[in-house]
Amino acid sequence: MRNTHATKLLFELSETGRRGARFPVSDVPEKPLSELLPTISLATETLPLPEVTEPTVIRHYTNLSTLNMSVDTHYYPLGSCTMKYNPKRHERLAGLSGIVDLHPYQTEALSQGMLQLLFETQEMLGEISGLPAVSLQPAAGAQGELTALLVAAAYFRDKGQKRTKVIFPSSAHGTNPASAAMAGFECVQLPGTPDGKVDLNELKKHIDEQTAVFMITNPNTLGVFESDIKAATQMLHDVGGLVYIDGANMNAILGITRPGDFGGDMMHYNVHKTFTGPHGAGGPGSGPIAVSPLLADYLPGPVITRAHDADGSTSYKLETPAKSIGRVRTFNGNIGILVRGYCYLRTLGPNGLKAVSENAVLNANYLLAKVKDILPVPQGDRCMHEFVATASPLLKSRGISALDFAKRLLDYGYHAPTVYFPLVVPEAMMIEPTETESKQTLDNFADALHKIATEDPEVVHSAPHTTPVRRPDEVQAARVPILKCCPSS
Ligand SMILES: *Cc1c(COP(=O)(O)O)cnc(C)c1O
Repeated sequence: MRNTHATKLLFELSETGRRGARFPVSDVPEKPLSELLPTISLATETLPLPEVTEPTVIRHYTNLSTLNMSVDTHYYPLGSCTMKYNPKRHERLAGLSGIVDLHPYQTEALSQGMLQLLFETQEMLGEISGLPAVSLQPAAGAQGELTALLVAAAYFRDKGQKRTKVIFPSSAHGTNPASAAMAGFECVQLPGTPDGKVDLNELKKHIDEQTAVFMITNPNTLGVFESDIKAATQMLHDVGGLVYIDGANMNAILGITRPGDFGGDMMHYNVHKTFTGPHGAGGPGSGPIAVSPLLADYLPGPVITRAHDADGSTSYKLETPAKSIGRVRTFNGNIGILVRGYCYLRTLGPNGLKAVSENAVLNANYLLAKVKDILPVPQGDRCMHEFVATASPLLKSRGISALDFAKRLLDYGYHAPTVYFPLVVPEAMMIEPTETESKQTLDNFADALHKIATEDPEVVHSAPHTTPVRRPDEVQAARVPILKCCPSS
């Protein structure tokens, strides 16, 4: 049992008369609330706030914060999310006063350092993707998708073409069709091949002059590299369509291949995944997009440009592209996350980034080999940076499901992998170890999975046993009709 203290409410810790601070005796006459707020009588009674000392409050919230699983406290192999270690050096650099004290309304002349940092980030993201025109504005991967689709829509409108369809494979992240629908397109979903890739024959059937964009993640969410990607992108280009690469899985291919080289016209990055911005629990994201020169004029504005002035000096400016779709976020994006990403890129350099991907892929394949005897991988014995295993055989033989693994892992001190996504694998467990974990951690995690597979199914079904909140009765909850929850209605 951890942190029983934190499972009490502040109200339960309250003792009359305790407090963290006292105000000096008032030297002006006291007035009743009703006189201070004569017309809006919202605050008519004194609220019964908990009465606690300062140390009690600090311990309460500090203990509460330790109930969470995080990359700083636990191994966190959440597939599709690249929950890699967030180097603390980046926190220190991003917290330098020259960065945090900068005001967004400071003039260009007084923001040259930050503009240079952002310009260089644009340049690096352009180079890594092979798509040189970059906007740092989108504040998440999903917003990057929407922004790029709006850029594509503006491009087709400009060319006088009416294109209505966006195509994506069935293994796509849910944000892909959601972004396409928000951008006003009709969504077309393609079934994949048994080995988890895009089916070129299916793609051929669906593309025509109405196709605007084909959205594809590469490597895809099954951890499989789309080896036919060039043929697929060629098919799109043959009908005048565009290809969107969902870059959430860039951790597998940094410095090895580039979306621009395999036929992508636009993509987003998740700086909070690939480039170590701390995330999870809906934390701040950053989803810059990179597009081919064909689409550069439509990017959200402003973007950061560099000018070589007559006196030989260099200056940075904010400029709005000629046919810009307009702003998608205030100022220049989520600067705090971009600064951390910049530190990461600058620290590692081209060779370091390549090593990141090589190790991410090596770790994933090592773990796959260690667990496939109990959790087989329908898409084969090799993967990129993540793999999708299935608990189906264990569910049949011992009644242990992917959900049971996810809950029981908490007792072993591990965050669960992503479960039941992608939908194309039954009882899916999507495991992404990342490059920052040691062989020891991977071995221990594989051991935990093996132990769970052989445990008494009763123990596993009722897990977790060590967390303050136990397993909600999801089956029962799903059976209760919502209206009946409220007897008075
Ligand atoms: C995380 C993710 C997204 C969405 O990114 P957010 O930053 O969470 O909005 C899109 N596609 C894939 C494959 C992802 O893993």
